Amino acid sequence: MKLTGQQLIGNSESADSDDTFPSINPASGGGLETIFHEATKAEVDRAALLADSVFSEFRDRLAEGRADFIEAICEETLALGDDFLERASAETGHPIARCTMERDRAVNQARMFANVIREGSWADARIDLPDSSRKPMPKPDVRSVLQPIGPIAVFGASNFPIAISVLGADTISAFAAGCPVIVKGHPAHAGTCELAARAILKAARRTDMPEGVFSLVQGRSVEVGTWLVQHPKIMAGAFTGSLAGGRALLDVAAARPVPIPFYAEMGSVNPVFILPGALKERKEQIAGDLVAAVTLGVGQFCTNPGLVAGIESEEWQDFSKLVAEKVSHFAPATMLHSGIHNAFTSGIAKRNDSEELELLGCSDTEANPAACEAAAYIYQTTQQGLLNEPTLLEELFGPVSTLVDCGGLDDLVAIAEKLDGTLSATVHGSEEDLVTYRPLLKVLQRKAGRLIFNGYPVGIEVCHSIHHGGPYPAASHSFFTSVGTRAIQRFVRPVCYQDWPDSQLPMALQNANPRGVWRLIDGERTREEIQ
Ligand code: NAP
Repeated sequence: MKLTGQQLIGNSESADSDDTFPSINPASGGGLETIFHEATKAEVDRAALLADSVFSEFRDRLAEGRADFIEAICEETLALGDDFLERASAETGHPIARCTMERDRAVNQARMFANVIREGSWADARIDLPDSSRKPMPKPDVRSVLQPIGPIAVFGASNFPIAISVLGADTISAFAAGCPVIVKGHPAHAGTCELAARAILKAARRTDMPEGVFSLVQGRSVEVGTWLVQHPKIMAGAFTGSLAGGRALLDVAAARPVPIPFYAEMGSVNPVFILPGALKERKEQIAGDLVAAVTLGVGQFCTNPGLVAGIESEEWQDFSKLVAEKVSHFAPATMLHSGIHNAFTSGIAKRNDSEELELLGCSDTEANPAACEAAAYIYQTTQQGLLNEPTLLEELFGPVSTLVDCGGLDDLVAIAEKLDGTLSATVHGSEEDLVTYRPLLKVLQRKAGRLIFNGYPVGIEVCHSIHHGGPYPAASHSFFTSVGTRAIQRFVRPVCYQDWPDSQLPMALQNANPRGVWRLIDGERTREEIQ
């Protein structure tokens, strides 16, 4: 498929600005085919007005129609074939196998949303029946259901060019809810964004969705995203990326004359606590799996384990040596782009200079900076060292982690208390450890969105129960997830109907329950109709 590098505003293409930017292959430093145009404020405005103009029509389509649209997106995405995977690989340095895995994950997740809206119970229909004889006041008929809020601005992250970008859960869950979407393409994979956007637009035409239900604006200046979030027709933003970017846009959303929710999923340190029972049973295996988790995808996961705490003992010493030995085998590999590579190398330089840290081990082979390569590093410190070096509590994006030697339970608890909100916290131990170290677990429960036992935080299961979020700064709003089917709840709000005629109610609230959804009627969950 031919790329044009233009804004895709509904079915129109435009390139109002001569300001362009290239798409770079991080491994070679060379430019890839197609130069991309920076969107202008007028183009952002056109996309937002168009999205708003079709919101009612899109919202009122039957859920089946939206589900067909989502399934058509899956088909059109798969039909992009190798071109799509090759472009994503060239723009990010991810191997083709990783890009294939991401595409399949995005498609499977989208199909899950199609199924959820076909079934329909997600909209949480609630009905409290009237009682005219109630004293002292008659009870009204009160019903509520979740309804879409309007056009959504979506920002993807560089590390998931397919699964957390144009085609990710943000876009698809917004469509599932009934909201039009405008994506601000990520400049580090602008070509991948355009290909994915063209698949969505083709699917929209095929399933007769109103023009404007989807648009893509591109840009490498922060203005494009800022204009989008500031636009009065945008009703919410969904963002995945760095704390700096997420916070800047969250502030823009809050400063609008009419503030909007801005769901930012940001970085995290994802601490791992290794308790004595686990070390006794399987220190070699944990050391190997931990290094694999730290270096997977060149450490470029928001769930990368950045801190690993354990209690000083002979076993912990042995474990530390095993980790040092295993990390030495990591062959340096290309990072996503030069910005992330520079941030990583300067972060490593600071860690090397820190008096609180000792380098425990690193890749045997030197990284080639011309190919944006990163080597892996594992540092060591003490609980006091960690408290003295606050940068260790911040994400350093890349293949790096720090082992923290602790004196006992109190030290582990002190570390956990010091942590900011985090996407995940992991505990390795025996079930007995969980009883002995209960005070630690109580703190982690307050700090993390996902608690993992005897596993690793990288690799998120896409399912109905998953929660990928957490207290700030892991996410801007700890209630919501950006992965899994609950992500749809970010783009809806409850609307309540009091004493409304049955024929004029949304289908999920009508007496006959024509879609057969689960409803809460007078406090009881049922699919029965109301006689
Ligand atoms: P990023 O630099 O924050 O970029 C993300 C998006 O936000 C891009 O489209 C970027 O556009 C835009 N942006 C950034 N700063 C902005 C600003 N001040 N104003 C307007 N727009 C702005 O993040 P990244 O480097 O692509 O991704 C890596 C980060 O994402 C890591 O920190 C990682 O932990 C995090 N991440 C989090 C999750 C999660 O689910 N929590 C998942 C994956 C990755 P421009 O480039 O044009 O500025």
